[in-house]
Amino acid sequence: MAIFSDIHSVCKQLYSQGWLANCDGNVSARTTPNQINITPKGKPKAYLLEKDMVSINIDPWDVVHKNASSEQAMHKFIYAKVDTAAAVVHAHPPYATAWGLQRDLKYLPSNMLSEGILACGDIPISSYCVPGTASMGSSLEEHLPEHKVIILAHHGAITWGTSLDEAYFGMERLEHIAKTLYLAKTLGDPVSLKQEQVDHLYQLRKQIGDVIL
Ligand SMILES: [Zn+2]
Repeated sequence: MAIFSDIHSVCKQLYSQGWLANCDGNVSARTTPNQINITPKGKPKAYLLEKDMVSINIDPWDVVHKNASSEQAMHKFIYAKVDTAAAVVHAHPPYATAWGLQRDLKYLPSNMLSEGILACGDIPISSYCVPGTASMGSSLEEHLPEHKVIILAHHGAITWGTSLDEAYFGMERLEHIAKTLYLAKTLGDPVSLKQEQVDHLYQLRKQIGDVIL
């Protein structure tokens, strides 16, 4: 049984984890092949109700619907490109966001965490885009459909899944990995796994399939 059946319950959980402030973040779920429900523009996520959600068309993905989240382009782009995408979560979890501020980093250095690889594979950091613009959608193209967990440089993170649960837990997984890596770096000099160990974990990940654990 699904844990999250409503967008507003995901929003409350994101807020309670400290992964967004005030009106930050946005969540959506596909309702028909060409429609989604998405959080509204400019409302604090902690206090949303299900009736506050806005229903919009996915196609064309770059048309702006004025009452829907200002970051709707990212959501619609993912749904337009990935037929199996059923839900999208965008938040600003502090540790993951901090990794998105590091110079010239294209991937989170998560290959030293065995269960990070098994849970979601590698985690790219997409290039910077001005929030609220259509480029936030198109900039995700190089990471789709392979990556369900993506850090947005100088901004936050976005996750998608075949359910609201998977999209939410992708964000939880990301922030846990990002925090662990931060702590390891703070302690000193974290040790990488050997390349053959990393390769073996990616083979196991392939057997698990394209799901976030
Ligand atoms: Zn944002």
